[in-house]
Amino acid sequence: MPDLPRGASVVIVGAGVVGASIAFHLAEKGVRDVIVLERDRVAGGSTGKNAGGIRMQFASEINVRLSLLSVPEIERFAELTGVDASFHQVGYLFLITTERDAAAFERSLELWRRLGVPARRLSADDTHALLPQLNVSDVRFATFCQRDGYADPSSLVRGYLARARAAGVRVVEAAAVDAVDVAGGRVRAVCIGAERIACETVVDAAGPWAGEVGALAGVSIPITPHRRTIFVTEAFDGLPRRFPMVIDFATGFYFHRESSGVLMGMPPQQEVDGFREDVDWDVLPRVVERALYRVPILERASIKTAWAGLYEDTPDAHPIVGAVGEPDGFFAACGFSGHGVMHAPAVGRLIAEQIVGEATSLDLAPLSLQRFRAGAVVREHNVI
Ligand SMILES: Cc1cc2nc3c(=O)[nH]c(=O)nc-3n(C[C@H](O)[C@H](O)[C@H](O)COP(=O)(O)OP(=O)(O)OC[C@H]3O[C@@H](n4cnc5c(N)ncnc54)[C@H](O)[C@@H]3O)c2cc1C
Repeated sequence: MPDLPRGASVVIVGAGVVGASIAFHLAEKGVRDVIVLERDRVAGGSTGKNAGGIRMQFASEINVRLSLLSVPEIERFAELTGVDASFHQVGYLFLITTERDAAAFERSLELWRRLGVPARRLSADDTHALLPQLNVSDVRFATFCQRDGYADPSSLVRGYLARARAAGVRVVEAAAVDAVDVAGGRVRAVCIGAERIACETVVDAAGPWAGEVGALAGVSIPITPHRRTIFVTEAFDGLPRRFPMVIDFATGFYFHRESSGVLMGMPPQQEVDGFREDVDWDVLPRVVERALYRVPILERASIKTAWAGLYEDTPDAHPIVGAVGEPDGFFAACGFSGHGVMHAPAVGRLIAEQIVGEATSLDLAPLSLQRFRAGAVVREHNVI
């Protein structure tokens, strides 16, 4: 570990896409006395293991608003940071097959109309026309938003950190924060072994481990890690070069183009809490069964590789964003419940605004830690 400074104005714990975005947005606001501490390596957590999906099609207003704030930044990412985030705006296609989901998505279409999300309802025939290789025999309707798609999370981190570093932000790897000093009701310092960095502000951007980092400051952050596995196929013929990210909503099976093959995943049948990150091969038979039903041409494909990572789920599937109240100076930016890449641009901006004392671009009350105590939670229906 390189020499650490004795003090910084802001310490960000975690160098995933969220910590990187916060560092970038602080630097853009002229806050440069910032240090990002990463216990492993940059983007070594969930950010290095996800599907890169970016979408506006959520069921709760606050999640839609986070996406509306994020997507324009990803669209302009090369201009802002000099790094191309490979944002393929091929759209997200949600296939709706059950009565219950049909009612929920009809409500969402209303919400999207009201908020200006350019999503539309497609009949089964329109859906088939969009991707003729899909089996749509059980599809009641689909929703499609062309501005959705997928990007490369590592490039997002690289771009954010390049700009932040150029402005003077320090990023230190192999630096595990193991204590947070709190005195007189406010944050005073973080410790990395025997090293101590005095600071006024600590941001917990530790992804699935954010609950552990919160506990160091005496803050209870309700995050449960859940393993998710991704499978990638070898190259095969029969699918177009470009097609949307497809979500078979009732089962959670999803896939998108990955080089000359496809990337696909599905939640496990039984959710198991914990930090295991080895590939869950028990999911594969269900993925294969669903893949062959939904996209019969996938019978030509074979599995090339697989990996697993962690979702960081909160009780209401919404992130926890902003000052926690007690201790003073401790901020949460975590609990993305599987949507941290797409919401990192918005949350980086919101946290930076709150730290410098500006009015935030969105009301943070629905995302506050206090909502759990107050019982003011809103469930998100569109979670995979
Ligand atoms: C299989 C899978 C698919 C996904 N698909 C999508 C998707 O399509 N779209 C989407 O938006 N999201 C998706 N996600 C979720 C997304 O990956 C996460 O929400 C996002 O990466 C969270 O970023 P983060 O920076 O908060 O956390 P992380 O990337 O996990 O970063 C947190 C960092 O904190 C570090 N850390 C932890 N404790 C300490 C400590 N004590 N001291 C110092 N550092 C510490 C960790 O080492 C880690 O690098 C998916 C996740 C998985 C697992």
